[in-house]
Amino acid sequence: MKRLYEPAAYGPQGACWWADTVAIDPWPQVQSDMRCDIAIIGGGFTGLSAALHLAQDGIDVVVLEAEHAGWGASGRNGGFCCLGGAKAPRSLLLRRHGAEGLAEWRAAEMAAVELVGGLLRDHAIDADRHSEGETQLAHTPKAWARLQAGADEARADYGVSPTLIPQDALAEHGLGGPWYGAATTPIGFALNPRKYHAGLARAAQGAGATLYQDSAVTRLRRRDGAWHLTTAGGTVTADRVIMATNGYTSDDLPPWIAGRTLPVQSSVIVTEPLDDDLLAAQGWTSAQMAYDTRHLLHYFRLMPDRRFLFGMRGGLRATPRAQAAIAQKIRADFARLFPAWQGARITHEWAGLVCLMARLTPFAGPVPEHPGLFAALGYHGNGVAMASYTGALMADVAQGRAPRRPWPRLMQATPGRFPLGPFRRATLLPAYWLGDAFDL
Ligand SMILES: Cc1cc2nc3c(=O)[nH]c(=O)nc-3n(C[C@H](O)[C@H](O)[C@H](O)COP(=O)(O)OP(=O)(O)OC[C@H]3O[C@@H](n4cnc5c(N)ncnc54)[C@H](O)[C@@H]3O)c2cc1C
Repeated sequence: MKRLYEPAAYGPQGACWWADTVAIDPWPQVQSDMRCDIAIIGGGFTGLSAALHLAQDGIDVVVLEAEHAGWGASGRNGGFCCLGGAKAPRSLLLRRHGAEGLAEWRAAEMAAVELVGGLLRDHAIDADRHSEGETQLAHTPKAWARLQAGADEARADYGVSPTLIPQDALAEHGLGGPWYGAATTPIGFALNPRKYHAGLARAAQGAGATLYQDSAVTRLRRRDGAWHLTTAGGTVTADRVIMATNGYTSDDLPPWIAGRTLPVQSSVIVTEPLDDDLLAAQGWTSAQMAYDTRHLLHYFRLMPDRRFLFGMRGGLRATPRAQAAIAQKIRADFARLFPAWQGARITHEWAGLVCLMARLTPFAGPVPEHPGLFAALGYHGNGVAMASYTGALMADVAQGRAPRRPWPRLMQATPGRFPLGPFRRATLLPAYWLGDAFDL
């Protein structure tokens, strides 16, 4: 595979807490040539959601995962099932896509959260759900002013009124810390992503999808009106293919994708369970999933078992030196924001790859000039809901039927290429510098 980062970025990248909470239910490996209607490359939320929805429609669908169940970002994220998926600010979305385009996108964001809620319910997936919407915390007085001003936009865009919590009321909401106020938007919830992933896999299998692991697709060719996907154990021939590889996309599969995705590392730490005294000392007792107003934001939540999860951007590189630096930075930021928990043991620490697109909006649609090939990727670190959603969308689109869910036009635009080709990671450097400078 042709990849941008050092090999360590394509490994487990640490000890993931979720792996301790769910036993891996292994899928078989491809061991012979086979044929199916639709093959899906990648077994994360995008791939599994597509597989489930296709199988429910009676389509013969096969998922090919290079590693094992839950190995990618879907099995190692922060578990925020929330609005989002684009990095483009609202003003840019409006300028590029107009009020109608923005409305389509907002409808999809909300439908994505609803979809996951429905999947958990319909397939009886117990994923330790908590949090009523999500809470954004202002890290400066100016950011608090912006949060208050943003309430009108939330009403206009999502039809909901955020609850504004001024600084002097944060303590009574159990949101103690160096914050100047908070806004809770009542859409979204938190979950254990590995439990959700395992439940989704079971549901897909139950509906008739066949899932394979240790079956990396190393070659994708179109011949005689069909797609041929080469894996070490055999070739899968399919009428149509859905690429669901997001941050782990190989830059040459197919060559069209070269330079169109930018994987970015995200890092997470999880503490030991925190006792009452520690929670009281920090003044953080809220079950809300939360993030701050920084450009390079921190996201965090107290989980039902009282472990605290804290995440932020990862390193620019995946060398031992860069990884040590980011391990130090995440600890320093955690200690700065939650000083009373400095002594708490960090039991788990890991990283994974998310995926940026040049237009800062996801892509979900047919791959131009590749008949029968579809792709869904680029959720900008916000894919628990959106990846599940684009998977369901692609299930319709790949069957050639009108999507049963909003399919925003901004998702259908052919993704552009980043500048600098194989060196495009360098474009992150100024963003990180500026972010760090502005976020102080
Ligand atoms: C540390 C971290 C924290 C995050 N936190 C959040 C959060 O709190 N909320 C949120 O909404 N989002 C979060 N995200 C983002 C979210 O996890 C992703 O957007 C989402 O999981 C993407 O799902 P996916 O199925 O598209 O990709 P993935 O889950 O990454 O799956 C892609 C799969 O494709 C496989 N693959 C790649 N190439 C091939 C090939 N050639 N053949 C076969 N298989 C292949 C990979 O092995 C991988 O398993 C986070 C991500 C990370 C890394």
